[in-house]
Amino acid sequence: MRAVVYRGVNNLRLETVPVPRVGANELLVKVAVCGVCPTDIKKIHYGTVAPPRIFGHETAGIIVKTGSGVANRGLALKIGDRVALHHHVPCLDCHFCRHRAFAQCETYKRTGITAGFEPAGGGYAEYVRVMDFVLPGVVKIPASNSFEEGAMLEPVNTVLKAVKRLNLLRGDNVLVAGQGPIGLMFTKILQLRGINVLATDLLESRLKLAKQFGAQWTARVQSAKSEVRSLEALDAGIIAVPSNDAVAQAMQLVRGGGQVLLFAHTRRRDPVKQGEKRKEKSGNVFEPLDFASICLDEKDLIGSYSSDFTIQNEVARLVFSRRLDVRPLITHRFPLQQTADAVALASRPTESSLKIVVEHGITR
Ligand SMILES: [Zn+2]
Ligand SMILES: [Zn+2]
Repeated sequence: MRAVVYRGVNNLRLETVPVPRVGANELLVKVAVCGVCPTDIKKIHYGTVAPPRIFGHETAGIIVKTGSGVANRGLALKIGDRVALHHHVPCLDCHFCRHRAFAQCETYKRTGITAGFEPAGGGYAEYVRVMDFVLPGVVKIPASNSFEEGAMLEPVNTVLKAVKRLNLLRGDNVLVAGQGPIGLMFTKILQLRGINVLATDLLESRLKLAKQFGAQWTARVQSAKSEVRSLEALDAGIIAVPSNDAVAQAMQLVRGGGQVLLFAHTRRRDPVKQGEKRKEKSGNVFEPLDFASICLDEKDLIGSYSSDFTIQNEVARLVFSRRLDVRPLITHRFPLQQTADAVALASRPTESSLKIVVEHGITR
């Protein structure tokens, strides 16, 4: 089969690799759609993991083979089913899982979907092998929904999980910094919960979209401060861009008792530079946080990473009912052989680009 193999920093090559063989409790899925995810882009750009790997973890497709033991698992998965896959599923039993810190669970950290080499999702290949421990994460796509909608369950899950980490009440005011596909999902999910969203971005086109996704107010990044002055106050800030300035600003802007949630700061700092003042790209020196804002003002600075398997049904209802309609978020579709172009566009978003997906020519 054809697969796009990561061979080193910024090196993605179309190669021919064997179709994965599946074991007794495993599935073989023919990939229809795979979303391009920023966390994979970072691994490709910075070479933070060893090659070779086949990335792509926002995957939807058709079951083409089931291991002999699958029928006994009570999961009702059969050949021909259209499914969305989940590459991380926690054990639900360890110390971390009991604290609902699923992303820290050892089982969760294992990637359960592969197209070959060290498992890394495999969605940038024609077929993937779905291992036994991630079978509970397989979701059937209703006949009225598309593979593209199925492929969006994973990113939507990460967003809903983050929202659930905030102590929000109806009528609260929340800043969502960054209105890319993830920021827009935050905006819509918060609006559905009766939250007033202030959406910020650098691109005017995205602010327009934010309005369509339910933002109460929008502002260019620079003018967010004056916009907030006209509000009573902010109860939380969600930072969906990897900008330290945005974090510092949000920590100032939220009221006492408020929360700031980091969603996009997924790249670890070079350990040598820990503790140094860092020059931001903009030339500003990032000032360390005023820790008194955490102590005296009781503001929480929290993070959220990856997905929560236990909310998967809620996520599926949200997307498949189209209460959160993800279809307008997908702006670009690339064939498998152009995966490198898809990754390049996703890493340098334009006025017109949002979610970018790789498709394999299987429609519906
Ligand atoms: Zn992802
Ligand atoms: Zn666990």
